[in-house]
Amino acid sequence: MGLLALGTALEWPEAKLRANQVREWGIKQLLEIWNKAKGKERDAMLWGDEVEYLVVVYSKDDSKVLLSLRQAEILKALSNNEELAAAGSVPALQDETAVKPNKNSKTLPVFHPEFGRFMLEATPGKPWGIGLKELLGVEPDMKLRRQIAKEHMMSTEYPITLTTFPQIGIPGQFTHPFYPPSGPKLRSQFVPDEIANPHIRFPTLAANIRARRTRKVQVNVPIFRDKNTPIPWKDPTVNYDLHNWPEDDDVRNGAAPDNFIHMDAMAFGMGSCCLQITFQAKNIVEGRELYDQLLPLGPIMLALTAATPIYKGFVAGTDVRWNQISRSVDCRTPEELGEKPLKHDRWRIPKSRYAPNSTYISTNPRLRPEYLDPDLVFDPEIKATLIDGGMDDLLATHFAHLFIRDPIVIFEEDLQELDLTKTDHFENIQSTNWQHMRFKPPPADNNIGWRVEFRSMEIQVTDFENAAFSVFMVLITRAILSFDLNFYIPIKKVDENMERAHGIDAVLKDKFYFRKNPFPSRPSRANTAFNDDSRPGSAMPSRPGSPGTLPVEEEYAEMTINEIINGSPDGDFPGLIPIVESYLDSVNVDVQTRCELATYLSLISKRASGELDTAARWIRNFVDAHPNYKHDSVVDDVITHDLIGHVVAIGERESTGRGFAGLDVPGLSNFLGKFRATGREVIAPDAGENGEEEADR
Ligand code: ADP
Ligand code: MG
Ligand code: MG
Ligand code: MG
Ligand code: MG
Ligand code: MG
Repeated sequence: MGLLALGTALEWPEAKLRANQVREWGIKQLLEIWNKAKGKERDAMLWGDEVEYLVVVYSKDDSKVLLSLRQAEILKALSNNEELAAAGSVPALQDETAVKPNKNSKTLPVFHPEFGRFMLEATPGKPWGIGLKELLGVEPDMKLRRQIAKEHMMSTEYPITLTTFPQIGIPGQFTHPFYPPSGPKLRSQFVPDEIANPHIRFPTLAANIRARRTRKVQVNVPIFRDKNTPIPWKDPTVNYDLHNWPEDDDVRNGAAPDNFIHMDAMAFGMGSCCLQITFQAKNIVEGRELYDQLLPLGPIMLALTAATPIYKGFVAGTDVRWNQISRSVDCRTPEELGEKPLKHDRWRIPKSRYAPNSTYISTNPRLRPEYLDPDLVFDPEIKATLIDGGMDDLLATHFAHLFIRDPIVIFEEDLQELDLTKTDHFENIQSTNWQHMRFKPPPADNNIGWRVEFRSMEIQVTDFENAAFSVFMVLITRAILSFDLNFYIPIKKVDENMERAHGIDAVLKDKFYFRKNPFPSRPSRANTAFNDDSRPGSAMPSRPGSPGTLPVEEEYAEMTINEIINGSPDGDFPGLIPIVESYLDSVNVDVQTRCELATYLSLISKRASGELDTAARWIRNFVDAHPNYKHDSVVDDVITHDLIGHVVAIGERESTGRGFAGLDVPGLSNFLGKFRATGREVIAPDAGENGEEEADR
């Protein structure tokens, strides 16, 4: 759901004056939806994924790889494709929100613009349904999206699924066409304004965030300390002598500390690609439950999908994108940050508006008060309004927390009259609270249900992996509902896990707080269509012990991701994959489907155990072994060219089902193992022609 409005976007000082009106109207719209939809029942168990791409200009013979800024032209080419246009698969130009596909369109994907003018997003033409067999359609659909996207690009342009472009913001040219930094909106010393989608919403978002903060965003990532990396390390690309904008003072005021790669614009964060999954619940109660139970999985899946080891031409000391996006849209004022005493602002706010979640919302009594954040900041007046409107305390607190934020982009034309048949003002605040779970109420027309979105995962290099992680999340969600699983830990521990997920190889080296006993203390509720208690083995055995009476600190422990995913060696913690296997045992699934699902689960399992590398590890090893790499943390043009070349080759081979035979990519078998896009366990990459034939059957 985006903001559809087009019109006059207010600049910050004026937008600020209208913030209360937007909040007030947003809350009225929310109550309208809530009252209309709170009793909605029996919505179908639909779900959908979102895959984001970088578009690069790559050719074998040109050592320079560039980001293509032709998003609009590519979307236009897609819209000129009659088949896609008929299916409603492409948005009208300049409209940031995709046109919904028509009802007849079964399979054609939908393409959406994104913040970066070098990005694309694609979703399935319609959400996936309940059937387990449908899960096997995900990977072919993702491949189709990649192929269709590629067919509408120039021959040297490629859609790739790396989280970040390794050389975004380097000195010299890194975009095609070339634009010099800086511009009035971003005022970045590294990237031009033209890097952002030109739709007025996006430059305004960036400019107003900067204005609200009173300085540029500060996206600093620790440098990776290699043996030839100088200590202290000073980012050599920072220019301390610019005097074009008042914000050029930022670096003279300490914005670029030693030992950090310094970045200063929204594009460095919001220009990252991720993999998001949205689930529709049968009703609001189930939606709230799913939201809470998926919430502690956010950091675990972030670490497991780690894919972001390079920024601005330097190897980073972190493995994932999350904090960088958080900082790239951190609109907090010095008062809200606690740097100055509160005078004009209402609260100190501990987190950016892009951050891990701060509230649980389920009505399930096993949500203990101790799990909640006692210091949660929320707007008491908004909470009172919601409670007066009939909303319960927990949900009112959740929205009153989201509504501590100012709307950033406001269109003058929308402030003339409150339209309760719309949700634009509500969505304005809701959709700029970028938390790792999002609770999505039905749209104004109420034609779809309550949904939750899982947002922490990093995009993976291949569609096989993206399908695997999507499918895993679907299966764990079904297991949660079927077995009434309980993953509650204090929400502040989820924050801490999110920090830990950033560490290099956190997936293998760090421990994460996780609930020791995920099973309900009472028999499973038969609360989904999947839970058919008449079949043998349909319910996980309940374990002794009543979690409600243990001190909270004894309910959780620090575990490795291997333990969380595959189970602890002593068997105390069962492991998410074995839980999913039990779930699959409990439902009717044909042998072929089960086998194909097993290849996905096997990928997840092996990433968790370290048998297979994350994309971050694969990229680190690739850089480390490159002849041009001087062990000084610098990723130059040639290394970038070769890395992107391999990513392009893997993506193409994999999405066309040609297999990896004959493809010489260092470390590939440690990374993708003997798996590939057909979803079947097949050959090692270096197997001969016969192997490939077999694989393609
Ligand atoms: P946003 O960017 O706001 O998260 P998108 O429209 O880009 O939204 O993606 C939403 C995802 O949710 C898509 O994969 C889409 O197929 C899926 N989806 C759409 N309708 C439903 C629904 N009723 N239930 C579950 N998922 C849905
Ligand atoms: Mg969207
Ligand atoms: Mg989207
Ligand atoms: Mg989006
Ligand atoms: Mg997106
Ligand atoms: Mg989304």
